[in-house]
Amino acid sequence: MRLKTIEKLCCPFDKGDLTLQVLAKDLDQNILEGILSCKQCKRNYPIVYGVPIMAPDEYRQIQLEQPIIEQWKLDYEINDIKLLPGN
Ligand SMILES: [Zn+2]
Repeated sequence: MRLKTIEKLCCPFDKGDLTLQVLAKDLDQNILEGILSCKQCKRNYPIVYGVPIMAPDEYRQIQLEQPIIEQWKLDYEINDIKLLPGN
C-alpha cells in the first residue's frame, strides 16, 4: 500500500489520527508491513502484505493478528504492542 493512501486512513473506532511505523517496504516504496497506531484509543492495526487490517473490534481476529506481531517482534525487534487497549 502506498504511503499517501495510508496517510489518509483514520482509526475505525474513533476516527483518530494514526501514526505509522514502517517495518518493510518493497522496491517501489510501497509499505508491505507496518503498524498503524491510534494515539487516542491505543489501538494498533497491523499492515500485512500491504493491506491494513482495520476493522471494528467485533470483527477483528486477534488470534490471527497476534502471531504476526510475535513474529515481527523477532524479525524487527519492535517493542511489544497491544492490538487492543486494556488486554
Ligand atoms: Zn482510535
